Amino acid sequence: MNCDESRLLLDAYADGELDLVRHIELEAHLKACPTCLRRSEAIAARRIRIRDSLPRFPASQELRGRIHASLRAEARGAARQGPLPFPVAWRRWNLAGLAASVTVALLAGYSWGSHHARSTSLADEAFAGHMRSLQASHLTDVTSTDRHTVKPWFAGKLDFSPPVVDLADLGFPLVGGRLDQIDGHTAAALVFRRRLHAINVFVWPARGAISPPRSATESGFSAQGWTHGGLNFLAVSEIPAAELEQFAGEFRKRTE
Ligand SMILES: [Zn+2]
Repeated sequence: MNCDESRLLLDAYADGELDLVRHIELEAHLKACPTCLRRSEAIAARRIRIRDSLPRFPASQELRGRIHASLRAEARGAARQGPLPFPVAWRRWNLAGLAASVTVALLAGYSWGSHHARSTSLADEAFAGHMRSLQASHLTDVTSTDRHTVKPWFAGKLDFSPPVVDLADLGFPLVGGRLDQIDGHTAAALVFRRRLHAINVFVWPARGAISPPRSATESGFSAQGWTHGGLNFLAVSEIPAAELEQFAGEFRKRTE
């Protein structure tokens, strides 16, 4: 990527709107180009200033009353009308779906039970780490599709050596790696790609009795965990859970 291309993408980058491939390419450019990095930081700073200087007005009691009244009127009207025109039906279905997913999330939270609390919080940490890596322009510290470049990069930075596998033949190409934190320990985060989505695999020493959850899902993210060779592994992504399970299975197979 050159500076002209980079300049065109900086605004979308600041808004977190780039697809994964462009995001990675732009980050690689920003690492190498101080001019574009300064421009990118200026855009980010400007966004924060604008956001912080926007006046905020709480809705008045009267406005709230009017909104509630119009919602009630719409609900009554819809109940009388029978079949709904598509957009209204869709909006309702969407709301119903949202309510259902909130309920499912709550129920799922309860069903984990307290003895899973520790391993669930590991999944939460991994979900948060995954989202951070996508938003905070910090997906990779070392960007390479070659595991013989990524693996040595961790040497000297960690007190363990994470296995780095190549799964490009299965449609999960390696993108790179970075240092991250999980369970109070510095972890290796290996980054893979599935179409336009990122997969983060957190790897850290398995000390103590708590293992990562075998699987977990939350708000559109899935996690797959396992322990092997004295290391914990926790893969996180927004790809379909079945694909992440396949990814985790192949990753395990190639490290055994
Ligand atoms: Zn540049």
